[in-house]
Amino acid sequence: MSERLPLMAGNWKMNLNHLEAIQHTQKLAFALADKDYDAVEVAVLTPFTDLRSVQTLVDGDKLKIKYGSQDISAHDSGAYTGEVSGPMLAKLKCTFAVIGHSERRQYHGENEEIVNAKVKAAYRSGITPILCVGEPLEVRKAGTHVEHTLAQLDGALAEVPAAHAASIVVAYEPVWAIGTGEVATPEDAQEVCAAIRARLAELYDAELAEKVRILYGGSVKSSSAAGLMAKPDVDGALVGGASLDAEEFVKIVRYRE
Ligand code: PEP
Repeated sequence: MSERLPLMAGNWKMNLNHLEAIQHTQKLAFALADKDYDAVEVAVLTPFTDLRSVQTLVDGDKLKIKYGSQDISAHDSGAYTGEVSGPMLAKLKCTFAVIGHSERRQYHGENEEIVNAKVKAAYRSGITPILCVGEPLEVRKAGTHVEHTLAQLDGALAEVPAAHAASIVVAYEPVWAIGTGEVATPEDAQEVCAAIRARLAELYDAELAEKVRILYGGSVKSSSAAGLMAKPDVDGALVGGASLDAEEFVKIVRYRE
């Protein structure tokens, strides 16, 4: 039995206005307060504009919900108009930053070099990266999805020391499953999550690899969560669309019940 604490992280993407974000966080807090959910770590990954309010709610109510951003600048400060830096996010006590989401890779041209720089930037500020990797449909069809995903992992972790990598969260997110309603089978998720863990053992060591949490992401719903979580190398989920429905997200968090 793994000692890794499952993590259910909601990626809100560019959804919910500020008031809706507050309301949504409160709904989650109420729904999760009546039961002991220490067995699962819960995080919301919000637009930058919501972080301060989410922090206030979480701090004020001593909520166990963690929060973080969906991106981070590779730079700590300076003339980078529109960007938000690690020190800025750290000041708001963000635990996590999503890095290398396929939407950032696709629409903002984020390559391995940029993703690697962002991973290092997060660690400089004490923020845990949720590093997204995963193959597009044509790669899956060609049968090279494992190699493709591991190459992304290698690139993202270049020159990242073990002391940092030990706390990383890796999210395996096949691009063809994101926002499509087509969830990977538990077997497909397990195949790649296990390969990611094996590569972490090669890059670092087996002890570190055993500690790292590897999430699956891509059209996860309450109906698919338990099946995915039954797999030994799947330690949680990165949830997009379904995380915008508080009731549904809470069901995912309580996948065991
Ligand atoms: C995501 O945004 O990371 C994601 C997995 O989205 P969805 O759950 O909607 O597929």
